[in-house]
Amino acid sequence: MTIVQTDRPAARTSGIAPRRLVVLGATGSIGRTTADVLAHAPRGAFEVTAVAGGSDPEALAAMAVQLGARFAAIADPKAYGALKAALSSTGIKAAAGPQAVIEAALHPADLVVAAIAGAAGVEPTHAALEQGRTVALANKECLVCAGGPFMRTAARAGARLLPMDSEHNAIFQALGGAAPESVARMILTASGGPFRAWSAERIRAATPAEALAHPNWSMGPKVSVDSASLMNKGLELIEAHHMFGIGAEKLDVLVHPQSIVHGLVTFDDGAVVAGLANPDMRVPIAHCLAFPGRIATRAKPLDLAQIGTLTFEPADFARFPALRVAMDALRAGGAMPTVLNAANEIGVAAFLAGQIGFLDIARIVEEVCEQAMAGGEGREPQSISEALGVDHVARDRARALLARRPLSGMVTK
Ligand code: NAD
Ligand code: MG
Repeated sequence: MTIVQTDRPAARTSGIAPRRLVVLGATGSIGRTTADVLAHAPRGAFEVTAVAGGSDPEALAAMAVQLGARFAAIADPKAYGALKAALSSTGIKAAAGPQAVIEAALHPADLVVAAIAGAAGVEPTHAALEQGRTVALANKECLVCAGGPFMRTAARAGARLLPMDSEHNAIFQALGGAAPESVARMILTASGGPFRAWSAERIRAATPAEALAHPNWSMGPKVSVDSASLMNKGLELIEAHHMFGIGAEKLDVLVHPQSIVHGLVTFDDGAVVAGLANPDMRVPIAHCLAFPGRIATRAKPLDLAQIGTLTFEPADFARFPALRVAMDALRAGGAMPTVLNAANEIGVAAFLAGQIGFLDIARIVEEVCEQAMAGGEGREPQSISEALGVDHVARDRARALLARRPLSGMVTK
């Protein structure tokens, strides 16, 4: 790695080969936070072999240099020239296009950090699992779009999935290896997002800038909007269902504005084990990077006496219809989570582009889900290509709804 901080302690495991990493989505919020954790990790403990990003060649080149990667892949084929130019004289190989991102995912690695945003991460992340790689999964849309195929591939290839999403990471730690059968309930907390205390009328008129202003977490735009609508918590319930093999009936959401308790597991004997930490993604990222060991981070230590009060409240499905729509898709199962995820990505992009109002995202998602159900398309995708086929149809339907604007009752901006 080119960032060498002399005040960092050498790895306690000195003499042991560094853990090799690939970082997919290296230029994003999770990618940059991963770089921060690595910059303060014990010297010699990690080595980054490859990085991948979407469409910003300069940022990707800078990240590749910072992390000491040998290969950098950018999804946008048009960005090849700029990436190559930015990496000239560094010795880092540049490549572009979706196939190059898959090539990055397959670089030699002990752990692949999957932090691409959205279903764009499905193919490269799945390719890594197919090769038996351990994958630290931030990219929750992978399991929402293609949870069945992902988990079957992981089992077949003997690949391990480590949860990097904070709630799932807390639950993973709370589970402590317990069998899913001993779990009575699994609860994911939600901060409630920037609109938690807003009236329905105010939420209806919310702007992209307001939706992006999350009170507790600093994240990429897609997950920030999902957090404001609570769709994020719905996606996370679906993610938990697949990752932990837990039935929909045992999964629940609790609104917890302080974002200190991230997840809770109630066991059959009545014991409740919760995972706590300050809202700082360095905590779950470091846990995944070092698993089953531990490394120090610069995350602020949790001071419960100073915080004083932790509060909890039920989720309000009336003001946050996206959560209801997502929970319906979880219960319906089959192809509905795939449809939900695809329509939501189109809805969020349209909202961020100022084309639709905030509550229209959930309306579009619900309508596309209803269309898929009415079309008898509820069967669970059996493979990644089937899942992506369902995803594409749902995206087309969502775009068709947008083209027919205004929908009845849609807030036009
Ligand atoms: P972001 O928008 O900040 O970053 C996304 C990254 O993906 C960027 O590096 C972008 O260049 C890259 N990318 C986009 N399309 C790509 C493609 N086709 N091929 C390769 N790379 C591509 O998003 P983020 O906030 O870092 O979130 C990433 C994922 O992690 C999301 O699934 C999100 O839900 C999840 N997550 C994020 C947080 C958080 O705190 N940011 C927390 C939990 C989970
Ligand atoms: Mg989360």
